[in-house]
Amino acid sequence: MLSIKKNFKTYSCLINNALKIDDRGAFVLPFELRLKDQEFLKYCHLDVDWDIPSVSSEDLPEEFDQKAVKLVDLFRRKTANIPYECMLFFDYKTGEIIYCFVEDNLDGKIREEINEFYFEGKNVASIHNHPKGFLSAPSGKNFQILEIENEDYELICGHDEFWILEAKGVFDKEIVEEIREKAQFFYFHSINFEKNAENKIYGDSLLKYINNKVKNNIKLIKVRYH
Ligand SMILES: [Zn+2]
Repeated sequence: MLSIKKNFKTYSCLINNALKIDDRGAFVLPFELRLKDQEFLKYCHLDVDWDIPSVSSEDLPEEFDQKAVKLVDLFRRKTANIPYECMLFFDYKTGEIIYCFVEDNLDGKIREEINEFYFEGKNVASIHNHPKGFLSAPSGKNFQILEIENEDYELICGHDEFWILEAKGVFDKEIVEEIREKAQFFYFHSINFEKNAENKIYGDSLLKYINNKVKNNIKLIKVRYH
């Protein structure tokens, strides 16, 4: 689960004004510092599996630049065989990585904090993997796109399928809660079925619910690897 630090408008206004004097300093430095850390190095060194079916530009939203498509394809190829979660936040128009998390820790789950300050003025998308043995579709804990103002796409690399959640802006707390509860409900419903059917039943219920029942601007798409 991610915790999200909200951007304080007045604070960022001050910083933005200061940046007009020297556009390059303050912004560039934090990114470099964060990406040079151990997790990014680990991510760079993950093996790339060129033999597996992956994701191409036809599978992704039109707004995605070629550099971002390449980033997504590589992410899938790097994470397809690992038993823990990795996560990137990136700019889907430039391909720039904003955050990189590699959770090769105790339970392999993402437990990190992000600061929305670094998303200002960017076209933000996130991607994370659901390792083999876990459900492919977004879990109730996902849908963080609904709480992050500048995130437009939340991508999930499941073991069998690829998922795209599309939503712009921030949503009411009640809506987010309701979606999370429903996802939890679909999950408990699906585990009554045999192992192979579980994944499909959960994913289909979620697809139907998000695209037909939720009236707000949230879209969920399932993509097959090919
Ligand atoms: Zn997830």
